[in-house]
Amino acid sequence: MSVFENDAFLHHDSVHFYNDEATGLQAIIAIHSTVLGPALGGCRVVNYANSSEALEDVLRLSRGMSFKNSLAGLELGGGKSVIIPPKSWAGDPRHAGEERANLFRAFGRAVHSLGGRYIAAEDMNVSVEDAENMAQETDYVVGLDVSHGGMGDPSPLTAQGVFLGLRACVRRAFNTGELDGLTVSVQGLGKVGWDVCEQLHAAGAKLIVADIVPQTTARAAKLFGAKIVDTDAIVGVKADVFSPCARGAVINDDTIDGLNVKVVAGSANNQLSHDELGTVLMQRGIIYAPDYVINAGGVINIAPEAKGQVNHEWVREKIKKLEDTVGEIVDLAISSKRSTNEVADEIATRRILDARDAGKAWQPGFVKQPKLRESA
Ligand code: NAD
Repeated sequence: MSVFENDAFLHHDSVHFYNDEATGLQAIIAIHSTVLGPALGGCRVVNYANSSEALEDVLRLSRGMSFKNSLAGLELGGGKSVIIPPKSWAGDPRHAGEERANLFRAFGRAVHSLGGRYIAAEDMNVSVEDAENMAQETDYVVGLDVSHGGMGDPSPLTAQGVFLGLRACVRRAFNTGELDGLTVSVQGLGKVGWDVCEQLHAAGAKLIVADIVPQTTARAAKLFGAKIVDTDAIVGVKADVFSPCARGAVINDDTIDGLNVKVVAGSANNQLSHDELGTVLMQRGIIYAPDYVINAGGVINIAPEAKGQVNHEWVREKIKKLEDTVGEIVDLAISSKRSTNEVADEIATRRILDARDAGKAWQPGFVKQPKLRESA
């Protein structure tokens, strides 16, 4: 398994491997950049085929967090962590019980050993309870429950940002900010997708939906008058806007030709299976809201926690600005005939490099560190 030679390693600050035999913890923490602040990014538990796959995943994700945090204007760098489930969990990444609690406490100690250069949060298969277990051992974890000084569930804020970013794209594609009468296809009616549907319905949009859980789509049909289609068909369905809110790589070499919309704007991470697909979308006249820009509401929601604060008003104001941010990226992409993801990457990178070159790179200890939470 290569590290320095791995393409995804490019520009990373450091990568840390942990092995705790007492709890079975095997984890990797990747810190892509701490120029703008401590590297904040979620921790996920995934059944990787092997440790090379885990390494590749964590490296790509941590770089993505640098871009996301930079573009959202946060004083945070980018990092991410992955945990490989122990054999005793028998392939179940959500395996519950004392064993899990002990493993997450060990992971909390690993995070703590980095002295605040990395701040963990929840990601795939990591719950608020897991974060609370990490918090037994370290202050450098966010996404805690409101009762433990946290900012609470980020999903409604993510959904609000998606709705606003989607509207910014509609304004450019259809010359109107009105969603009334437009048709939006939504893939995935989970915590974010459901809220997006609610807002779209309230704004008068017609909905076409797909989810692997039939009860959820049936509810959407009843409450929003949504048309239900197969999970395989949703990507190619004719609509004005496609909103992917389920999983990554939904736009790939096999699906891109079938897209039948003018806008792609949804919450899922890593919607394009590779960056060049952004150019293909641009050439086809489809406006794509870069995923890490439009779905930044979640990380904006936990950003105050990284400073040991709770500040819902600041979060609300910051999320309102996502409509302008997405709009400006789309305008710049159109005027410079480049893909929106390329423009977003460039703006995000420039902010990091400008701070570094101006000698303003964050140093541990230069900012207020999170306070030890008594209730944790
Ligand atoms: P979730 O698990 O609550 O919802 C996902 C939904 O997608 C579920 O209803 C699931 O049944 C459905 N689904 C799964 N596979 C599907 C398929 N093949 N076709 C159709 N539906 C399918 O997750 P969420 O928190 O709503 O997040 C949705 C996406 O947004 C994820 O990609 C996540 O990484 C991303 N995201 C979420 C947040 C947040 O605040 N929750 C923040 C940023 C990004």
